[in-house]
Parts: sequence; structure tokens; C-alpha cells
Amino acid sequence: MHIINTITDLHTARTALRGRIALVPTMGNLHAGHLSLVEKARASADHVIVTIFVNPLQFGPQEDFNAYPRTLAQDCAQLERTQTDIVFAPSVHELYPQGMNHITRVLVPQLSDILCGAVRAGHFSGVATIVLRLFNLIRADCAIFGEKDFQQLLIIRRMVADLFVPIEIIGMPTQRDNDGLALSSRNQYLSSAERRVAPTLYYVLNVIKERLEADPTCDIPLLETWAAQQLCEVGFNMPDYITIRDAHTLDTPHAAQPDWVVLAAARLGAARLIDNQRIHIPHAAA
Ligand code: AMP
Repeated sequence: MHIINTITDLHTARTALRGRIALVPTMGNLHAGHLSLVEKARASADHVIVTIFVNPLQFGPQEDFNAYPRTLAQDCAQLERTQTDIVFAPSVHELYPQGMNHITRVLVPQLSDILCGAVRAGHFSGVATIVLRLFNLIRADCAIFGEKDFQQLLIIRRMVADLFVPIEIIGMPTQRDNDGLALSSRNQYLSSAERRVAPTLYYVLNVIKERLEADPTCDIPLLETWAAQQLCEVGFNMPDYITIRDAHTLDTPHAAQPDWVVLAAARLGAARLIDNQRIHIPHAAA
């Protein structure tokens, strides 16, 4: 496995690779969720490239860019065991040598302005910009992303379609702890008391999923309000959102289109947790 920090070395190592290449972009601090993406990459291609880069462009001024856990040595030790070919872990200066103020940015409208985009101004433009830069640097055949960041996955799919980027985007299911909490690098911001109540997020998403799959005509605003109350009762702040949407457009769902999703983002102590559950509305409802 080559651990590479510069674009020049990346070009050299990339040029030597033959066959199909899969890319897994990450911010590091790898857990079993990331490793499931690497496993999928391994199964989808001849070579695997993992990027580790905490991208300042996607963090707001009040957000946790400085505090974000950086564990490159442990990450590389984990990746050694996955037959990853290349780890690309550049510095901020390597990727943004002129700084970030005047660089070309990618903006995926509408999808980037709602939900997490409404509370994290500029976040998804920062994500789309770094992802397209990595796509162009690495020229992979496919890239693997987690459904845990469901809105992000839709935005990347839209960017790729809109800009005719020649890459296949593969989504992978969310990996969870035994109690249902979605694995996340930010879970380590939770105190042990907060960690105990954090799976309530998964619990309420599942209740909503079960109720809607049993009866798609049930009162959606009432369900959303109930879920927010449940979270507040166990110690979450009022959620940024907990909302039921069409899984393709993130618009208000309609019974005629059976793929729905319930998405939530809520603070618990110092951690902002996000999660979602897909909902399959029975065709009879159409
Ligand atoms: P991050 O390092 O948080 O930027 O995440 C890198 C990739 O891992 C993204 O595509 C995430 O959606 C994905 N990911 C993060 N957490 C999980 C998880 N629990 N299960 C599956 N994929 C995940």
C-alpha cells in the first residue's frame, strides 16, 4: 500500500495502475462504516484508492474543523488489512495552495439549500467541490459513498449527472453499532450518558418507517412532531430537522412514488448526529 501526500506522487502512482479503479473519499478517523465502503470498492474494481482529507471548505466558521479527529497512522494500519492500493492523504496546502477564497466552486442548486444545507451554509458546495477535484485527480471508474450521508449522496449523483462526469457512483448502507446508532467519527464527542440515549434517533426513525409502511396515509406532520418530542425528551436539542421526503428529490413525498426517506439531524451535547431510514410505500397506496 502506498501512502501518498502530494499530487505529483499521486499522478505517478495512478499512472502505474491498470484496470478498473475504485475511489473511497473519506475524512479519516476510519470506522467499520468506512471499511464497508473499502470492501465494496475492493469487490468492484482491480485497484482501490482511499483519500483521507479533512476538507476545510465544507466546514463553517463555528464548526469543528480544528477539533475533527485526525488519526492517520491508525487509519493506514486499518487500510493495510484491506488491500487498499493507495492512500492519498494530502495537506490542506497541497490541495488549496492558493487558499480557498478564489477557487472555482461547484454548486448543486436546490438539493444543497435544504435540510443540512439550510443549517450549514456553503457546506454542500464545499463537499461537491472537493469531490469533483478528487474525481479529476484520481480518474477512478467508480466511487463509493455511504447512504448515512443521504443528502450528500444525492448531491454527488446530481453533480455527476449534470456535469457528465465519467464515474459510477455506488451507495452503501449505513453501518451501525449493536444498539442501532449509526457509526460516525463525531460519536466520540458524546459523553457516556449521551451515548446511552443516542440510539433514540435510530429508534424514532424506525417507528416512523414502520408506521408509514403500515399506513401511508397517516398524518406526516404529526409523526414528525412526535419524533422531535421523543428526541427532546431524552436530551437532544430541538432537531434541525426530522422530516419525511421523496427519496429521489427530497421533495414532499407522494403516494404515487413509493421510495420515501425519513431524515434527521439533531444535536446531542457537542455532537450533531444525522441519520436516515428508507421507507418503501406499498404499491397499493398509489
Ligand atoms: P466521512 O469520513 O464522514 O466524510 O465519510 C466518508 C464516507 O463514509 C462517506 O461516503 C460517508 O457517507 C461514509 N460513512 C460514514 N459513516 C458511515 C456509516 N456508518 N456507514 C456507512 N458509510 C458511512
